[in-house]
Amino acid sequence: MQHTSFLDAVSVTKNYNDKKASGVNNISISIAPGKITAIVGESGSGKSTLLKLLFGLLSPDSGKVSFRGEEIWGPEIKLIPGHDDMRMVTQHTDDLNLFATVYENIAQLLPNTDIDYKASETERYLKQLNIYKLKDKRVADLSGGEKQRVAIARSLITKPEVLLLDEPFNQVDASFREGLQQNIRTIVQETGLTVILVSHDPAEVLSMADVLVVIKDGEIVESGTPEDLFRKPEMLYTAQLLSNRTVLNKEEALLCDIKTEKETVAISPEHVILTSSLTRKDWTVKQVLFKGFFEDVIIEKDGLELRALNLNKKEYKTGDKIHIRIAQFLEY
Ligand code: ADP
Ligand code: MG
Repeated sequence: MQHTSFLDAVSVTKNYNDKKASGVNNISISIAPGKITAIVGESGSGKSTLLKLLFGLLSPDSGKVSFRGEEIWGPEIKLIPGHDDMRMVTQHTDDLNLFATVYENIAQLLPNTDIDYKASETERYLKQLNIYKLKDKRVADLSGGEKQRVAIARSLITKPEVLLLDEPFNQVDASFREGLQQNIRTIVQETGLTVILVSHDPAEVLSMADVLVVIKDGEIVESGTPEDLFRKPEMLYTAQLLSNRTVLNKEEALLCDIKTEKETVAISPEHVILTSSLTRKDWTVKQVLFKGFFEDVIIEKDGLELRALNLNKKEYKTGDKIHIRIAQFLEY
């Protein structure tokens, strides 16, 4: 298959104050058009720096970023930073006009040459981002999450080719977050928009992204589909980013009847199966945490604590003696 380039970074390095431990080092990445690519990594790993380089908000010290084969101009050359065919939304929604209404904030991005189009497009994006009911409110009176929706609507109404999102859902209430993520997925499917999303929320990137790119200390360490990286991450770092796995050393693993040749074992709570054995009751239930449709059962043996996800609620109580089986684990 012939490869046509869309948005590419080749051996890109950007360090702050000449410190190699800052920014990103020697990153190469090809962003697939019409897909949602999520960049994940711990805080300070270089996610925002990479996003700004792809957008043209920062210039690389070395290497090259290009869009459709043309080099992206950085802020030293371009008067209004950022590529014209791209929009970026961050946690800061500074460019909103606080004293104008939601409607005005969105509509003002379109010219007055076609008033009907302007009105119908504004309504379309108000509805698509679920802020139609807020249209006559002043932005100053909105919650943080509502402001972020307005910021996203503003970015989308100009029909960019690429939307870059830097942890944009931070302030959105959990109950609305899923809806907003779904809205963006729908827009991507309907319009072919390309989205690059930076996030450290595993639930968010797993459900939203087509491709995951894992970044650590300014370098890309692995990439793949959310499913592959969740199930079989090559690196312990990725395993820990994408799930709240418990990490055990050799000796601790033995307590779970796991013999490993490697140094480390990682276990997901859903793979800790609580069983009732007549002969072996080697674990003690320390706590049962109600989580709605499931429980987190914290169990202990010889000072080692494990977390088990239990769907059969009220089966166990604090102090119960039980046995466990580890259905699956990862070795590193
Ligand atoms: P992330 O978005 O993953 O949290 P960043 O890209 O913001 O990471 O930062 C990567 C590294 O570069 C961090 O060590 C951070 O402290 C450093 N850094 C980021 N921006 C600046 C800056 N303007 N000046 C100096 N150091 C910076
Ligand atoms: Mg950041």
